[in-house]
Amino acid sequence: MTGDEQGSLKIVGLGPGNAHLITPEAQAAVDQATDIVGYIPYVKRIEPRPNLRLHASDNRVELERAQAALEMAADGKKVVVVSSGDPGVFAMAAAVFEAMETGPEQWRALDIEVCPGITAMLAAAARIGAPLGHDFCAINLSDNLKPMELIEKRVRLAVEGDFAMAFYNPRSKFRPEGFSRILNVLKTTCTPDRVLMFAKSVSTLDEDIRVVPLSDCRPEMADMRTIVIVGSSTTRIVPKTGGQNGVFVYTPRSVEA
Ligand code: SAH
Repeated sequence: MTGDEQGSLKIVGLGPGNAHLITPEAQAAVDQATDIVGYIPYVKRIEPRPNLRLHASDNRVELERAQAALEMAADGKKVVVVSSGDPGVFAMAAAVFEAMETGPEQWRALDIEVCPGITAMLAAAARIGAPLGHDFCAINLSDNLKPMELIEKRVRLAVEGDFAMAFYNPRSKFRPEGFSRILNVLKTTCTPDRVLMFAKSVSTLDEDIRVVPLSDCRPEMADMRTIVIVGSSTTRIVPKTGGQNGVFVYTPRSVEA
């Protein structure tokens, strides 16, 4: 430690995009930080101010970014690592703990806190109704950190268990095939009327939400800014009335024996 100040590390979720959906706790952590660490587009969401250092890096250097954050906190800085949504959902919190576990022992003596945020699947579900109202699971479709066969297996077993599902990172230009494979798994295991929701850039100006039966789903409907929610076999669609377009989607809270 160089200064008199005790350093700290907060791993903060900034929510799905809209400033209203940042928790007061997360905002206070950002307001008190000396250093902000994160992936470039998330660091861009932080208002610059004097004496606040912004450390933005590329997405594929999570562990190095986590190590740098821990080093700065050990050096007496008030470090905030930012993620979108919730930091514990396919994001930086696990990377920080992995770096901590394998790093110098003094890192474990640090004041470390995780500040939760509204994760994409919950923001998207709220826009549509309550598609995650009964049992559900979240699956990251990126095969950067696990094999595609495991992703397909998990989707197959989630269908067998009749879970609703939320797919994060469904499709990127680097892996255009993966989501086609997952849609094929769904098309061979679910009836054609299974309801899917493609929710893009939820809570931002680019928000676009579509409710589509499985039979009409095409891979191009998803990109890296989309979260895909797959209903269970009991998920229901309720058309709005009173001159409003669109539908509500919900999954009933009970399943008959
Ligand atoms: N920690 C984040 C998830 C990071 S993984 C969270 O809790 O939300 C990145 C993926 O999250 C994207 O590929 C997309 O599937 C989803 N995502 C993040 N923000 C989103 C938003 N505003 N609208 C729709 N999907 C979003």
